[in-house]
Amino acid sequence: MFSKILIANRGEIAVRIIRACKELGINTVAVYSEADKNSFHLELADETVCIGKAPPHESYLNISSIISAAEITDSEAIHPGYGFLAENPYFAEVCESCGIKFIGPSAENMRLMGDKVKARETVSKAGLSLIPGSKKVLASKEEAVSLAKKLSYPVILKAKAGGGGRGMRICHSDVRLVSAFMNAQAEAELAFGDSQIYMEKFLERPRHIEVQIAADNYGNVIHLGERDCSIQRRHQKLIEEAPSPALNNKLRANLGEMVSKVIKDIHYTSVGTVEFLLDNEHFYFIEMNTRIQVEHPVTEEITGVDLVKLQISMAAGEKLKIKQNEISFEGTAIECRINAEDSENNFIPSAGRIEFCYFPGGKDVRVDTHVYAGYTVPPNYDSLIAKIITKGKTRKETLQKMDRALGELLIEPNKTTVSFCRKIINDSDFRRGIYNTDFLKKFISREEE
Ligand code: ADP
Repeated sequence: MFSKILIANRGEIAVRIIRACKELGINTVAVYSEADKNSFHLELADETVCIGKAPPHESYLNISSIISAAEITDSEAIHPGYGFLAENPYFAEVCESCGIKFIGPSAENMRLMGDKVKARETVSKAGLSLIPGSKKVLASKEEAVSLAKKLSYPVILKAKAGGGGRGMRICHSDVRLVSAFMNAQAEAELAFGDSQIYMEKFLERPRHIEVQIAADNYGNVIHLGERDCSIQRRHQKLIEEAPSPALNNKLRANLGEMVSKVIKDIHYTSVGTVEFLLDNEHFYFIEMNTRIQVEHPVTEEITGVDLVKLQISMAAGEKLKIKQNEISFEGTAIECRINAEDSENNFIPSAGRIEFCYFPGGKDVRVDTHVYAGYTVPPNYDSLIAKIITKGKTRKETLQKMDRALGELLIEPNKTTVSFCRKIINDSDFRRGIYNTDFLKKFISREEE
């Protein structure tokens, strides 16, 4: 096992990773930008290193600063968290060439899955279904229009290097497609330095179902069930739960088995998530995320497996100690993302000082956060300030606990998504488990009426 790990991230995930390290007896190095000098993860770490200015490319995306910090602190490994450099194969290669273990999959795995067009081709060969769409990146507007005719509208344009919903455009007509084509390319270029885009048929009311997997360096693969992440705003998840109300045990086992087989076939190692859209009882692959995800706690709560500890131990060369038939799913869990955003004003970010805050507690309530009273939410990064996770024997009990927990939560005077999440938790369709990726759009327009 490692004796010292550097965490190349910030916010709640840095806190989460440090907690796992402490329980494993590993010393930690926290890095931070000038905007994060009051962040709580610095209090928890054994050592801290400032890696630069507030803009991400001058700190959390600055590979040479991070590698230097690892070298001067004698860190043996780097945990990248999510976002920033977590899915950057070049960073993984630099780490390895400097003799520092990158806690994640191989650069080759990352490169394959980071190219969504190649990923589609690879998993399709391994047996997963794809949403009908382009086999290659689109060469021109004309090609896009002709493919859209074949697929029939609506269609969606997506960035080959995509992530975070950037570069996506839903199109209902030729006219819209022609103008969206250039916009999508420009957005993709800006976000990823790669303007290439591809097309899929746009499914209008699917559920987003994703499967958590773990694979060691010795060919052992397990799946840890699914998460339902259909509650999204602009393709960004807000509330996630496990198990999905839409799956039964048979579907779950079949899906899990299918995914494990693909993971084995592509020689993937580390934890990861394979994402699908479920439409008319059919699972269509959309992408694979080669990192720990924001919503991993709901899986931890129903399986009892600490995914971050598992990820670290596999990176240290340990074998998966747990077998598939030893994974059992108990009860249900849900996560609400608390973002510093004004849900009554088009979700505009609401950075600034937190004067007062009180987090919920009690049985089966988990809070993953880096904020505290007196902390100033910087405007430079994503707006996630806390995750509230509850679990219960039944979905009803889990939702009652979430309603109770959100009712206790106070963050003042900042605008947050707390009351918005609470309204969703109490929505009658949501309570009955009847929802899909279109839910929030309708919910918001009803709210605005
Ligand atoms: P990103 O990596 O940018 O987050 P994904 O491929 O994971 O992109 O898709 C994010 C979300 O966008 C999905 O959960 C879904 O809600 C929506 N989406 C993506 N592709 C389609 C599609 N073909 N039809 C309908 N919705 C889609």
